[in-house]
Amino acid sequence: MGFIENELEEIKKLAERKIPSCKLVCCVKTMVRAEIKFTEYKKIVACMQFPKNYPESTLLIELKSKTLSEKLIQGLTNVCETEAKKHLGRPQIMLTLAFLQNFLIENPLSCCHSEIGNIKRLLVDGVDELKLKQKSSSIFLSIVHANYFWNVKFFVPDNYPVLAIELKNAETNLPPTLRHHIFEQGREMARQCVEPPLKKPKPNDPPFKPQPSLEKTACFFINYVKQLPSQVCQFCKEQCLPSDPQLIEKNEESPRHLERIFCGHLFHQECLFNYLKTPPFGNKRCGICGEKISHHKWSLSDKLAENRWAHEQARERELAEVEDFFN
Ligand SMILES: [Zn+2]
Ligand SMILES: [Zn+2]
Repeated sequence: MGFIENELEEIKKLAERKIPSCKLVCCVKTMVRAEIKFTEYKKIVACMQFPKNYPESTLLIELKSKTLSEKLIQGLTNVCETEAKKHLGRPQIMLTLAFLQNFLIENPLSCCHSEIGNIKRLLVDGVDELKLKQKSSSIFLSIVHANYFWNVKFFVPDNYPVLAIELKNAETNLPPTLRHHIFEQGREMARQCVEPPLKKPKPNDPPFKPQPSLEKTACFFINYVKQLPSQVCQFCKEQCLPSDPQLIEKNEESPRHLERIFCGHLFHQECLFNYLKTPPFGNKRCGICGEKISHHKWSLSDKLAENRWAHEQARERELAEVEDFFN
């Protein structure tokens, strides 16, 4: 038997046993085709052919994946070829398959490679930071803008993107209420990527399919945090966040305490409540985005607010009359 026939025999006998994630699709002299698969999303198909003077020259390798990014697959093909070159004169196929399996084990973040590239493009070099931690399958994102920072860790689960990323410990010098709202909104965004909406779908809607949640959530954090320091209160037109984070109003009862309404826009507590307390009642909307205003500290119904306002007006009139009388 020739060299290639021997190698093919060995592959048939040992490949699936020695490389558990490998499934042989075809193993003949013209081509060896195998699948390295961990999940539907972490899957690479390798097509390998013997060149003319094999094994003295490198195996011809073509990698395919429906889910890993093209750029990643191209880079991986080059690395596989370099690896095979180290073993000229010896069988190269089993080595290549083992190398691919190892790559997927050691680089769990490969499944979000193109998302990571897109996130990086939104960051400012030397200011923001994105660190990949393959060992723990997690990503550290640090956003910095005008004396404020937002650090958050994403954990990418094995079955991503069928399962959403998990958000871990956000650190920030933004006010605690903002930290809480931003974090929860990010978490909700990730959840919505993988869970169908509660609302019954319309008959013609396509069936729900989980979407990758990393880029969407990270972009939300980046865009939101970067515009916060320049956001002004819609009423007094003053910048909401002080340039010095030390000067943030911490007392929740203070009129200058910052309040974030549901749409994400900011007000001073005093400015928001003054707006809600004055007519016209019934349809209070955010002046920036037009969304209906709701806020947990303001549970007064419109009717009640209107009555209260009328009552205050009447009282003021009475006082004015009394004053007139004495003047
Ligand atoms: Zn204000
Ligand atoms: Zn708004």
